Amino acid sequence: MQLQQSSTFEMMEREEFEEIVFFHDSSTGLKAIVAIHDTTLGPALGGTRMWSYRSELDALRDVMRLAKAMTYKAAAAGLSFGGGKGVIIGDPKRDKSEVLLRSYGRYVQSLGGRFITAEDVGTTLEDMRVLMSETRHVAGTSIDPSPFTAYGVYCGIKACLEYVFGDESLDGVHVAVQGVGKVGGELVRLLLESGARVTVTDVDASRVRRFIELGASYVEPGKIYSVQCDVFSPCALGGVLNDSTVKRLRCSIVAGAANNQLESESVAERLSNLGILYAPDYIINAGGLIAVAKEYECARRGREPSTEEIMRDVERIRDRLEEVFRMSESSMGEEMVITTSRAAEMLARRRIEEARRLKGIYLPD
Ligand code: NAD
Repeated sequence: MQLQQSSTFEMMEREEFEEIVFFHDSSTGLKAIVAIHDTTLGPALGGTRMWSYRSELDALRDVMRLAKAMTYKAAAAGLSFGGGKGVIIGDPKRDKSEVLLRSYGRYVQSLGGRFITAEDVGTTLEDMRVLMSETRHVAGTSIDPSPFTAYGVYCGIKACLEYVFGDESLDGVHVAVQGVGKVGGELVRLLLESGARVTVTDVDASRVRRFIELGASYVEPGKIYSVQCDVFSPCALGGVLNDSTVKRLRCSIVAGAANNQLESESVAERLSNLGILYAPDYIINAGGLIAVAKEYECARRGREPSTEEIMRDVERIRDRLEEVFRMSESSMGEEMVITTSRAAEMLARRRIEEARRLKGIYLPD
């Protein structure tokens, strides 16, 4: 996004944004931006991030990038939600207070349900509970999304194995997991339980010990890319797949939880040329979002979803990956090969365009 040269309206037009709202409350010092990218499929769902941005332009750039990504993620996950995001400008350690959060909550409420928020970087579940004293448009307050994200990645890896080897069994399959935090750690547990051979790494050595005890092998963080394995699973940072790391990969499949894994679309082309199947990040890591969306929808009907119900929804990640793989495969041999990453975008866009043709399936109340 080239923001500097453009006016806000030009940026909104180019990136197809519906609404961007700037909130300011001098009594609490609140400065916040909510970006609603697209509500064709439903109200915009997205976390609220609190961060000490270097400039207001940086904050605007971030909120727009994140909101647009949420539109694609929700659409590709088959959810009846659109994409949005909120940012509160400030240092969460220094500037966060109950009055500031409540002020933000009142602004969120003023959007009348077009934007539903959840926790993100710099905000916590406790903060969301504070917002709830001012607005009912908060999701994910009674659910930990990480285990569902891990379960979705686990199901996605099975779909990849079925596609590449014609057998979804994890027995004896070697998976290299980068990052054993909330998602990676739970994924390793599921993989080991299913008989997989697992190699782990993490910059925080104290996190790895538990998994070595459970039977995983360990390599130093810099060596994880060159582990000879069936599946490389990035579950730490974004942007880890670039020209230099892809060269070192010794796997048949890349399937992990990290957001924005590809440094650029050209990396997807390189993976495809090397015959490595790439599971698009925002499809395979949507388990947590699916869980939060389910919780919000059920709460509106006055009930709580069961874990089994959520898991059934998360398992459908497999179908979406299979669809993306088929779309990509059908273009093989043609002049313009559709990478799996491009296919994911096409899948999301197709859902939104179909809903638009039906003149919108969501009417805000
Ligand atoms: P986390 O912070 O709990 O875990 C990340 C782990 O990666 C940590 O243990 C950290 O020490 C390790 N790490 C950081 N840099 C590393 C490096 N260079 N090499 C090896 N290890 C490194 O985070 P999480 O919630 O498990 O999320 C992991 C990834 O999945 C993130 O990219 C996140 O955005 C994405 N994601 C998470 C969820 C969720 O539900 N938590 C949902 C969707 C996407």
